[in-house]
Amino acid sequence: MNFEAFLAPYAACSADSRGRRFPESDSASRTAFQRDRDRIIHCGAFRRLEYKTQVFVNHEGDLFRTRLTHSLEVAQISRSIARNLRLNEDLVEGISLAHDLGHTPFGHAGQDALDECMRDFGGFEHNLQSLRVVDLLEERYGTFDGLNLTFETREGILKHCALEKARQLGDVGLRFIERKQPSLEAQLANLADEIAYNNHDIDDGLRSGLLTTAQLDEVDLYARHRHEVDQAMPGIGSRRAIHETVRRMINALIVDVIRTSEARIADIKPQNIDDVRNAAPLIAFSEAMRTDAMLLKQFLHDNLYRHYQVNRMTAKARRIVAEMFAAFTTTPGLLPPAYRLPQGDAVAQARKVADYIAGMTDRYAAREHRRLFDINES
Ligand code: MG
Repeated sequence: MNFEAFLAPYAACSADSRGRRFPESDSASRTAFQRDRDRIIHCGAFRRLEYKTQVFVNHEGDLFRTRLTHSLEVAQISRSIARNLRLNEDLVEGISLAHDLGHTPFGHAGQDALDECMRDFGGFEHNLQSLRVVDLLEERYGTFDGLNLTFETREGILKHCALEKARQLGDVGLRFIERKQPSLEAQLANLADEIAYNNHDIDDGLRSGLLTTAQLDEVDLYARHRHEVDQAMPGIGSRRAIHETVRRMINALIVDVIRTSEARIADIKPQNIDDVRNAAPLIAFSEAMRTDAMLLKQFLHDNLYRHYQVNRMTAKARRIVAEMFAAFTTTPGLLPPAYRLPQGDAVAQARKVADYIAGMTDRYAAREHRRLFDINES
């Protein structure tokens, strides 16, 4: 059965995939991209996303987004846009579900702290780490490390990359050197990520009380849709009004991406995925919506991500990561045996420590820190 018969000619097609690093025979029941998605869902790093967070720390409340629910929201948004543009839903779903696999505990605070710790050892970047998880760190197969995903899923996971790193990455690094675009599915997952977090951070920000609706009225995109809701459904209560507003915003962003991307595609008329790679980015917001989205992002940055209560958690998270890193690198004997290397190679040992810390969930990291520094914990 050809599951991809309805795709546009410029969509990524399993049959034309650049393949896996270790050749495998085709499945009788699934396309290569379906298998990639399934491998991601069944891997250990995916399950850990449930206990990792972006803005709020896992124990702060049961209703906040985790990296798992965030990834599911990204996959949902990606898929609905993909279907409209006749792109490959299976590929875009796999990329969306895998895009945050490399994230450290404690969101961006953890990532920044680990990057700082790794400064003399090649740095740490969560996006590169996601690729490292699927290429190397998962141990589920008898004959190779990682999940052995297709080139197209791996290229989609690697959203951005410094040139110096790109040179070490082989096939998936090449497009950064050649200044080419990835598949439309990869471009789409990237944009869906932004749509998802901007909107759910409003929702979580309001629920936590760190943001107020009065503050949000300064943001054009929010205010416009809020006004629409107030006109159409007066007196529905504040929680429902927030949800009605956020869902309208998500819809407006999605419709805008579909319309804008359709127009760009019609303009360039790509005949196949190679034309896509050689063109300018084709999946995009309109100019007006780009400005709206930027202002919203700026607002969240100033008012939520820099809120003093978030700052306190951020400071604690940085300290926990930095102290664990220092303890493990100066005394590798404190590490579980699987992460310990024979003495001598400080760079390789530091990378192992980074892999260990990056793989931790929020609560595991807090507990491990106590085990290292609190005499009453074992
Ligand atoms: Mg994300």
